[in-house]
Amino acid sequence: MEYNIKCSNCHRPSHNLLDYKCPSCGQPLNIEITKKFNPDLIQTNNYSAWRYIDAFPYVKQTDIITLGEGWTPLVKFKNNTYFKLENLNPTGSFKDRGSTTLISALRKLVKNKNGTIAEDSSGNAGASIAAYAARSNLKAQIYVPENVSGPKLLQTQFYGAKIIKVSGTRNQVAQTAQKPSKNKYYIGHILHPIFRDGIRTLAYEITEQYEWQTPQNIFIPVSAGTLLLGILSGFEHLVLSNVIKKAPRIIACQTEQVSPLYHRIKNSPYKPPVHVDSIADALVSTDPPLLNIMTDQLQNAQGDAIIVKENEILLAFKELARKGFFVEPSSAVAFAAYKKQIRDKLIQQEAKTVVVLTGAGLKTPDTVTQHFP
Ligand SMILES: [Zn+2]
Repeated sequence: MEYNIKCSNCHRPSHNLLDYKCPSCGQPLNIEITKKFNPDLIQTNNYSAWRYIDAFPYVKQTDIITLGEGWTPLVKFKNNTYFKLENLNPTGSFKDRGSTTLISALRKLVKNKNGTIAEDSSGNAGASIAAYAARSNLKAQIYVPENVSGPKLLQTQFYGAKIIKVSGTRNQVAQTAQKPSKNKYYIGHILHPIFRDGIRTLAYEITEQYEWQTPQNIFIPVSAGTLLLGILSGFEHLVLSNVIKKAPRIIACQTEQVSPLYHRIKNSPYKPPVHVDSIADALVSTDPPLLNIMTDQLQNAQGDAIIVKENEILLAFKELARKGFFVEPSSAVAFAAYKKQIRDKLIQQEAKTVVVLTGAGLKTPDTVTQHFP
């Protein structure tokens, strides 16, 4: 085998790609790629994330469902700081890397059983899964909290997914989505290991676009942890394959309101607000199910975590837009954190740095307009 899927808790192997949690103990599954990354096997005439298909041994070339995701520009901002424009993915967020991998791996399995996929997300992931389901003629149910609205939900509806509104907490939405029923296959992006495994391509791309060097620092926004775990796993794979000597330092950026990982890393208690009303509306996981794994992986990789305040996010959002980079406020969280570390002299101006701009500005909720004259 060129890969293993194992439980993060009891280490029981899983041989069913449809498993989204351990069949024995219910804890999250992890994918380990035992095959080395080989730069000579990159499909250099494929200008999408699938140029790295050799590093995804569980996906057949003929099964790929693509909308042209990945191979996004790495654009110089100033000095040695670059932006990775993940907002330019087909549905307007980095989540397409996870969706293309997940749907490509599972489509036949679900289709053969005349199944419907189920996901819980009212945000970028819901829209992305809905798009790839549409591309591959799969039926999709997207479970959302009953009071949500906004551009991401509209986008999900336009792709033709069935929206199922659930009352109660965010956890109750997830539980309802997971409730077994005939021909329903839960493929939730937060738990399903293939989704975050697809994010490995971001690490490969940054490295290839950096001409097989690596930047010193990478700033990313972190909520449920799919971006964090995926990018860490990609760089670890490159190190273990002797493609790079050392992984970049990953800085996990959170809002003051939604900062469970930051508080865990800094060993301080975290009490989430009763209502999260941050303008960074993609960062809402106050109690992420993968928090233990995120903490372990970030610490093992000697990364760091940082929080930013609302006014810092708003200023960063405005500054990005006024320099031509129109991204959603959640993406500005990473830029705000970068500015803070420069200001506090925790990183140097000339350090090779990448800020990942995760989502498109057109996804910005209406409420943000109140901050503009
Ligand atoms: Zn287990």
